[in-house]
Amino acid sequence: MFKNGHQLNLGNQYAKGNKHTEEWKEQARQRMLGNSRGFVKGKPSPRKGIKAGFPAWNKGIKMPDRCGANHHYWTPDRTKAKEKRNLRRSLEWTAWRSEIFERDLYTCKECGISGVYLEPHHIIPIREDETKIFDVNNGITLCRNCHMKTFRKEMTFVEKYQKLLN
Ligand SMILES: [Zn+2]
Repeated sequence: MFKNGHQLNLGNQYAKGNKHTEEWKEQARQRMLGNSRGFVKGKPSPRKGIKAGFPAWNKGIKMPDRCGANHHYWTPDRTKAKEKRNLRRSLEWTAWRSEIFERDLYTCKECGISGVYLEPHHIIPIREDETKIFDVNNGITLCRNCHMKTFRKEMTFVEKYQKLLN
């Protein structure tokens, strides 16, 4: 039983708090001597000269065919891309768009589908004629699918769509 004056954990050096006896300290010092893996006061770090970890596998490897202008996400003129985005949010654009949708009765003029996500298409692309950007006669309602079919081939659809509107 516990009695007044007794000390707890006598004989257990680890439980005596942080007071190390001189004897225990010397024992610890002796254990560390000759230990080449640990830090030794006054000696250089045992890890000196060893690089931490491995370098990233792709470090220093360049991929010229996938960088900069060669990358398929590359946009040569960021300002133009920004302008394009802002344009699509502008009131003028929204008005032009809904006028075309209403005239075409919210139906794709190519395949006749309705009730789907529709996009306004410039019959004559803006890059060919910027003045036709808000020209209602230059716009036609297309569904996403039909619109995508015109990408990069816009000029081959011009005559067809102009006839469709007249
Ligand atoms: Zn369609």
